[in-house]
Amino acid sequence: MLREETFSVRTTAREQILLITPDVQRALGAMTKGDGIATIVVPHTTCAISVNENADPDVLDDLTKALRALVPKVKFAHGEGNSDAHFLSMLIGCSLSWPYRGGKLILGTWQGFYFVELDGPRSRKVTVYVNE
Ligand code: ZN
Repeated sequence: MLREETFSVRTTAREQILLITPDVQRALGAMTKGDGIATIVVPHTTCAISVNENADPDVLDDLTKALRALVPKVKFAHGEGNSDAHFLSMLIGCSLSWPYRGGKLILGTWQGFYFVELDGPRSRKVTVYVNE
């Protein structure tokens, strides 16, 4: 049976990378104490989800700068003016599949789940699905 838990993320800048490991773990733990593969989804088109280093906060600033620099100098037509955010969202991705055991995410020592805001500030949703 497919189950899901959704939580909100409030961003405060246009580009922002926020640690959400505790939120993902809480959502997962509310649904299962078992083993399996969870799917974590952001149901939006101008943000993304990723896993990266959860140790040195400088990494997040560096990644934000690098993402900004990655946007090509093309003439975007989209009237909302946020095609750069759509582009980066497509590159990074809007979902992850991740293993868990005993209801706990299996993460490497330095890994954390990150919500990647690309067109904030906004209120966003993240949904964790399990199929047990
Ligand atoms: Zn748009």
